[in-house]
Amino acid sequence: MKVLVTGGTGLVGNGIKAISCNHQHTFVFMSSRDCDLTDLESANTYFDELRPDYVIHCAANVGGLFKNMNSKVEMLEINLMMNYNIVKLSHRYNVKKLICILSTCIFPDDTSYPIDETMLHNGPPHNSNNAYAYAKRLMETHANAYNEQHNTSFVCVIPTNIYGKHDNFDLQNGHVIPSLIHKCYVAKETDDDFVICGSGAPLRQFIYNVDLAKLIMFVLDDYHDTSPIILSVDEEDEISIKHVGKLIAKAFDYESRIMFDTNYSDGQFKKTASNKKLRQHLPNFTFTKIESGLEETIRWFKDNYDSVRK
Ligand code: NAP
Ligand code: GDP
Repeated sequence: MKVLVTGGTGLVGNGIKAISCNHQHTFVFMSSRDCDLTDLESANTYFDELRPDYVIHCAANVGGLFKNMNSKVEMLEINLMMNYNIVKLSHRYNVKKLICILSTCIFPDDTSYPIDETMLHNGPPHNSNNAYAYAKRLMETHANAYNEQHNTSFVCVIPTNIYGKHDNFDLQNGHVIPSLIHKCYVAKETDDDFVICGSGAPLRQFIYNVDLAKLIMFVLDDYHDTSPIILSVDEEDEISIKHVGKLIAKAFDYESRIMFDTNYSDGQFKKTASNKKLRQHLPNFTFTKIESGLEETIRWFKDNYDSVRK
């Protein structure tokens, strides 16, 4: 089958690329250079020429807490446009299966824990990322509308915080792990403090991009359902930002210079997600330990410092 991976140059796209040789499909990894997916006409031409059997839609305007807080217009508009076009064209070009990627950060702020797949629309998301969250939630509504009305196979997967090689290491706009890796690198180079934003108390579940890629391939080939599925590490693997900051500092041998700047927001305190549904399908799936995932990511970041996204 011909599988179009949008966002093929990103963190998740590269995770899929890393394992694609293990699968009997022909993969096409596209980026914004191949086609601007916010433009329906260009995207239509692209689909018309490619005619994919499957689409894994990883392209998005993505960023960490501070990008979500400071660029709400772009987080809403670019994601709304891209997601609308992909869902619409997947129907128009008879895509056999579309995988849409949501996020555990789009769940209601005021919720019980652990979060499960049924709770997505049960209340407003955290104010810090509501623009991004509503664009994602609408993609789920849009995909389901096609499933109900046109019997399509459009499925939404819901990953927790992702990290790994090929992430965006931007100091201001990146997610916490890549930003802290870059910050710690710079702090050590300049003999400065390693500053972690906020109190360090918030909790997160982190999944390595290659693990996520394997789970997405499971959904593509073996998950015969259109109801959303959370793709997350286990609940007991949830760790604090402080813990992850310490692991990063340890990898750089720079633990003595950690500082917390509480002038920065903590964002949502936690979004603990249950992977019970996933575990029913894959009870023995082994996740990469955060220590080794970080080690690989940091090594890759150092080796590719000049060319990484930052
Ligand atoms: P990423 O590393 O920032 O990559 C984004 C990708 O989207 C890039 O390949 C980029 O292409 C492409 N793209 C952006 N704008 C485009 C446009 N207008 N037209 C075509 N392509 C465009 O993102 P990611 O972290 O892999 O995220 C993948 C998916 O996972 C997204 O849906 C995201 O919301 C979701 N997710 C991410 C996280 C996380 O922690 N990272 C957590 C939960 C869910 P260029 O290289 O050409 O710019
Ligand atoms: P979130 O999980 O969607 O909130 O996104 P992030 O990956 O951006 O993680 C945000 C959490 O990490 C918040 O508690 C921040 O205060 C904390 N944090 C600490 N330092 C940083 C940093 O340098 N960048 C980012 N993005 N978050 C940081």
